[in-house]
Amino acid sequence: MRRKLPEQVLLQEVNRQVAELCRNRDGLKLMEVCGTHTMAISSSGIRRAVDPRLKLVSGPGCPVCVTEESDIDRAIGFAALKGVTVLTFGDMMRVPGTNGSLNDARAKGADVRVVYSPLDGLQMARQESEREFVFLGVGFETTAPTVAATVLEAEKLQVKNFSVLPLFKLIPPALKFIAARAQIRIDGLILPGHVSTVIGAQPYRFLVDRYRIPCCITGFEPRDILEGIFLLLQQIVKGPELTIQYRRSVRPEGNPQAKALMATVFKLVDANWRGIGKIARSGLGFKRRFARFDARQRFGVVAGKKSKRTGCACGDVMLGLKTPPECRLFARRCTPESPIGPCMVSSEGACAAYYRYER
Ligand code: SF4
Repeated sequence: MRRKLPEQVLLQEVNRQVAELCRNRDGLKLMEVCGTHTMAISSSGIRRAVDPRLKLVSGPGCPVCVTEESDIDRAIGFAALKGVTVLTFGDMMRVPGTNGSLNDARAKGADVRVVYSPLDGLQMARQESEREFVFLGVGFETTAPTVAATVLEAEKLQVKNFSVLPLFKLIPPALKFIAARAQIRIDGLILPGHVSTVIGAQPYRFLVDRYRIPCCITGFEPRDILEGIFLLLQQIVKGPELTIQYRRSVRPEGNPQAKALMATVFKLVDANWRGIGKIARSGLGFKRRFARFDARQRFGVVAGKKSKRTGCACGDVMLGLKTPPECRLFARRCTPESPIGPCMVSSEGACAAYYRYER
C-alpha cells in the first residue's frame, strides 16, 4: 500500500525530484487537464511553492471555456424566438459570443434562466406547457449522464416542450489532440478526477501505450495534487504508467450506469472547441431515437456572426502553450469584471484563477 506523506514532506520530495531531474534538462511541464485542478493549484499556492523549473500548465478541461462563440450565438438566437426559454448553468451567462452574452440577451428581454440541474429545467417545462424550454448541454463526461437521464425522463413523461442544445465535449479525444502535437511538449498529465469517476482509467491508456506520457488521475485536495505530481515525477524517472491517485472515488472501470445512460441517448460526433478548433469524435450528439430532443432539429440552425479578432489567447492557454499572464490582455483589458475571453469568466477558467490568486 502507498505510504501517505504529510503535505510539507511531499512538497520537499517533489522539489527534490525536480532538482534531480533538472540536472540534465531545462525544465519539466505537467498539465493539469481539469479546470477544478487549475483553481485548486492556484488557490492553494502549489504553483508558487514548487520549484520554478516545474511548470504546471492548464489544459482544456473547463467546459465553459471550450464552448464555441457560435454556439453561444445559437443559444442567444433560440432565446430570441417567441415563446422560447433558454436554460443554462450560471457560468455560461457572461461568456461572450460574437455579439454579446446570454446576460446581454436577458437584459434586452430574452427569457434566459439559470438552473442548477437539467431536471429543474424539465420541471419548468412541465409547469409552463405553453413555452418551449431549451437546456444548454454544456459539460464533459461528468454532466452528460445527468442530461441523458433527464432526456429519458422527458421521454417517459412524454414532455413535448423540452429540448437540449448538445454542446458536450469529451476529454480523451482532446488529450489525443494534445499528445499528437509535438509543439505541445508535456512531460505528464494530471488527469481529471471527476471525469474519471465516470469513464474510469481505460480510456486514457493510449496516452501511455502510444504517446509514452506519464498519467495520474488525481483528486482535488492540495495533498492529492501534490501526491499526483509526486507520482508523475516518479514515472518520469521509471517510465510512464497510468496511475490512480484518486482511488477513494475512481474505479478503473468507472461508473457503468453513467456510461450506459450516455450510450443510450448520445452518439459520438465531431466537436468544435473554442480557440482550438474541430476535434474528431470529441463531442456527443443525439441518437436518432432522441432526435426530437435536439434543439437544433426543433428550431433550425441560427447562424452566428464571423468571430471578431479580440487578441484573446484562451486557445493557447488551454493547450498549455501560454500561461494567462503571457496574454497581453491579462489584467489590463481583460478582467473578471470585463472579460474578453471565457477563461476569465468561468469559475474554472485558468485566467480567472491566475487573476484571483496569482498576481
Ligand atoms: S486574459 Fe482574457 S483575453 Fe487573455 S487569454 Fe485569458 S480570457 Fe483570453
